[in-house]
Amino acid sequence: MAEKVAENGEQKRFYLETFGCQMNVHDSERVAGTLVSRGYTAVGTMQEADLILFNTCSIRDKAAQKVFDRLANFKALQKQGKKFGVLGCVAQQEGEAIFKRAPHVSLVVGSASYARLPELIAQLENGETKVTGLEAATDEAFETEYTRRDHPFRAFVTIIEGCDKHCAYCVVPFTRGKERSRTSASVLTEIRHLVELGYSEVQLLGQNVNSYRDPSPAGLSFAELLAAAGAVPGVERVRYTTSHPRDFTPEIVRVMGENPVLCDHVHLPVQSGSNDVLRRMLRGYTREHYLGIVDGIRACARPLALTTDIIVGFPGETDRDFEETAELMHEVHFNSAFIFKYSPRPNTEAGTWPDDISEEVKAQRFAILQERQQAMQAEDNQAHVGATMKVMVEAFHPKLAQWAGRSSSNRVVNFTPMPALDVLGQPGALRPGGYAQVRITKAGPNSFVGQQVN
Ligand code: SF4
Repeated sequence: MAEKVAENGEQKRFYLETFGCQMNVHDSERVAGTLVSRGYTAVGTMQEADLILFNTCSIRDKAAQKVFDRLANFKALQKQGKKFGVLGCVAQQEGEAIFKRAPHVSLVVGSASYARLPELIAQLENGETKVTGLEAATDEAFETEYTRRDHPFRAFVTIIEGCDKHCAYCVVPFTRGKERSRTSASVLTEIRHLVELGYSEVQLLGQNVNSYRDPSPAGLSFAELLAAAGAVPGVERVRYTTSHPRDFTPEIVRVMGENPVLCDHVHLPVQSGSNDVLRRMLRGYTREHYLGIVDGIRACARPLALTTDIIVGFPGETDRDFEETAELMHEVHFNSAFIFKYSPRPNTEAGTWPDDISEEVKAQRFAILQERQQAMQAEDNQAHVGATMKVMVEAFHPKLAQWAGRSSSNRVVNFTPMPALDVLGQPGALRPGGYAQVRITKAGPNSFVGQQVN
């Protein structure tokens, strides 16, 4: 393919920065692939680029503000002829108002319009200064023609887009639209293709993967799709994210118990341990229902790690509500928890309510949960010392002479390779994307240290 050449005869270069979740990371792969297909080259700094893109996240106020701060910091680069674009959730949420707030931006594209990127980029190249792709998120195009895989050994596969849950605090149904599932045949074909490309770990993605419904006559449920993905020859690991307790079925746990290719990790956001808060969050389940699912997960044929998301300081959260969350955390003993301070978002139901928990109280509650969770993790992880884990190798740290990788349960493991495999201090037979058996010698709250064994 001919390289894109500017009028001055130079090749066009783009810089793409991604904020937010794995869906966004994967969207950036789609965007980058489309740009490369148009002859652009990716560069690592804004200074080197002609086109500077931010793929944004609006799930929290802080994340959205960060994008505008970044834009303001680099405004001066516009004088050098560089063009700026805002993509993703902030683009979908703020729309053309971005041109007012950051006048040096000339491209605003929501995630539903990435399939139209070639046409939008052409408009930009033709000198248009306010190019938008802000269609309502209803497309069925889960991948563009040119998805570029940035991760060398873990491949993301979108199985469902959008969300129909409308939790009171969440912008996703607005920014990503209604749920659209992809056919099982298309998902499985892509996984086979990824295996041919050398990937052995795939991660099925969706805002709520459990509500996946195969739109083809095959009619697979999420559990059936998971089993089918795990049965693709050459696949060694299948992960999935994110789950919703309302749609999480015992069938999923049964399928995971039967097939060790399905990673032994469930991420199941609980958000709160108080039934009153859950009701006002419009989560559609109770504390008791959630704990029932946890019992099912704990009874799985093999141990599964369980992680969660929690919001503190939701409007009206009383001290008692907060204590119920802390008690639930203690009862479940999550392997890890992502704790967030509530911030009101536009276009959400809770965003219209008074944000009546002070920043100080939110910060206190956040700190209490963080501290308790870290202490539990430190204690629970000790139980793994002496165990052997299969680790997917990710990177070598020369200073430490250690490899880093992840266990099936998504825990970080730093380990020393077997001396026989090291040639002149180089990590011999190990390579990123390969696997190693590691005996755990030390455990911290967030990671393990170990030694490679045969
Ligand atoms: S389930 Fe709720 S929190 Fe998750 S994406 Fe949908 S609306 Fe947002």
